[in-house]
Amino acid sequence: TELERLQKRIAKAGIASRRKAEQMIINGRVKVNGKIVVKLGSKVNEKDTISVDDQDISGEKFEYYLLNKPSGYVSSNKSYPDQPSVTELIKTESRIFPVGRLDMDTTGVLLLTNDGDLTQKLTHPKHRIKRTYEAWVKGIVQNTELDQLTKPIRFDNEIYFPQAAKILKTDLNRAETFMEITIAEGKNHEIKKILEFIDHPVIKLNRNMFAGITLGELKSGQYRPLSDQEVKRIK
Ligand code: URA
Repeated sequence: TELERLQKRIAKAGIASRRKAEQMIINGRVKVNGKIVVKLGSKVNEKDTISVDDQDISGEKFEYYLLNKPSGYVSSNKSYPDQPSVTELIKTESRIFPVGRLDMDTTGVLLLTNDGDLTQKLTHPKHRIKRTYEAWVKGIVQNTELDQLTKPIRFDNEIYFPQAAKILKTDLNRAETFMEITIAEGKNHEIKKILEFIDHPVIKLNRNMFAGITLGELKSGQYRPLSDQEVKRIK
């Protein structure tokens, strides 16, 4: 069987990122076949029994889900009566967490996994993973205003780099515009800030793509596991 580094095996079990797993090893929390291993770079095979804090992790595997997040759920692991967590919507024994965050009132594409390394890769701004949103905003957006979204935006002590924006439809009666906008970083409230900057505050926000993954037929609150191909594509 294949040998791999102990920290990689722990990360693969969804317990921690590779770096955190190294720390766990150094701190003497990890046993291989019942013996504490503190040396980094030790190799293990599939038959070895690995435990962290005396909990056997050998059977744990990565899981990846796509959820169509409904409004009213928070993107964290903690739930409160008036703020249920998105993790409650998915039936699994694994300790999964959302890949990045959507605001409580934002809907749409949200990935959940116990794969810490992948989460890091997909959420770190330096990887420039694309996210596309559909937004209903106040007011009628003019094409000339879209030009502002082709340049960096300095606002509220932040700098935003919108990637693309277009108007999908306008509702003249309600004085509202439906638009699509793409970003590549995922800063806090990024879309709301960008659209507030051009004086068209967001009324409703839905993410329709993240890292190339779209909702397809998934209804609000529904989820499905990612296919092996999808996982390969985003890794
Ligand atoms: N931008 C926002 O303002 N909110 C979200 O939930 C996601 C992106």
